[in-house]
Amino acid sequence: MVSERQLIDYIKRAAGKTPARVQGIGDDCAVFGARAGCKQLVSVDTLVEGIHFDLAWHGPRELGHKAAAVNISDIAAMGGKPCFVLLSMALPARLDFAWLTAFTEGFTAELREYEIVLIGGDTVASPAGLSLSISIIGEAEEGRILYRSGAGVDDVIMVSGPLGDAALGLKLCRQGRKDLLASWPRLTAAHLTPRPEVALGRHLAAGGKVTAMLDMSDGLSTDLAHMCEASGLGARLDADLIPVSAPARQAASALETDVLDAALSGGEDYKLLFTCPAAAAEDLRQEVMAVFKRQIFRIGKMVSGRGVLLCGRDGERDVSFQGYEHVTE
Ligand code: ADP
Ligand code: MG
Repeated sequence: MVSERQLIDYIKRAAGKTPARVQGIGDDCAVFGARAGCKQLVSVDTLVEGIHFDLAWHGPRELGHKAAAVNISDIAAMGGKPCFVLLSMALPARLDFAWLTAFTEGFTAELREYEIVLIGGDTVASPAGLSLSISIIGEAEEGRILYRSGAGVDDVIMVSGPLGDAALGLKLCRQGRKDLLASWPRLTAAHLTPRPEVALGRHLAAGGKVTAMLDMSDGLSTDLAHMCEASGLGARLDADLIPVSAPARQAASALETDVLDAALSGGEDYKLLFTCPAAAAEDLRQEVMAVFKRQIFRIGKMVSGRGVLLCGRDGERDVSFQGYEHVTE
């Protein structure tokens, strides 16, 4: 295995210059000051080889990107600005220095995109698989943080983009057929290198119209069920309104799988799921189009009661908590 010192030195250089107000990698602790008027947001996520990713198709650079992105997405989900990250790695001896530097480059490139500073971490050996644990610290102005629990009865449910791309991308990777992988790069990219919705999350939280929000990691049926539980309500989804991309439709048909199922239970799309009062929904849609030149999609509404009902042409069914646990089935 690479020496711990050598790797930490490399990571420290790749992390780049730390702002003057921050003491980053190199001491026993990192030190930073909180901005006046802001709350701190903190989250940790662990990714384990064989559970959350498979090195057979997840290259080091892409894995670095994804490990950062899924954590950044948690800050985006609250409407926060991501600021600092800590990276803890348990490394199997089979990963060589070239692999580790490519991972570090993917990870730090993704951090730079959002002006996030890598302020520390831990590096240990693993007797088995690769394990990555990432802590992220963000900030948000007091009163501008969006929780899962804020949805009201009759609020419209919206999602920030098409669903199911990542789940179908994973299916394509698993099949390992070059012809299929090359056909739908949008889907494999959705699985390998997801993009957190930081700017949109900040905008939605600042605008005052959105009542509840979360990022979608486990699939619509599970993520919405979490929002329902936290808000003490139920939800009615209109099956015809759930957005899926053209490549997702094509790949689902090639793989003989149901595209709506991928959207409902696939997970890992990292789009934002949010609610707002019905009277504000059209304004919000137009505002997002004007600022971000993109669509948001109304998919249903919050109702009294509990559970997530999917309403389609062939009736209604409860789809609460049908998302699966990421990579392994
Ligand atoms: P200690 O033994 O005091 O915990 P370490 O030798 O583990 O210190 O780490 C030395 C410095 O390098 C610390 O500032 C730590 O935060 C940082 N560090 C260690 N591993 C990583 C990593 N994987 N990513 C970023 N910083 C790291
Ligand atoms: Mg240590």
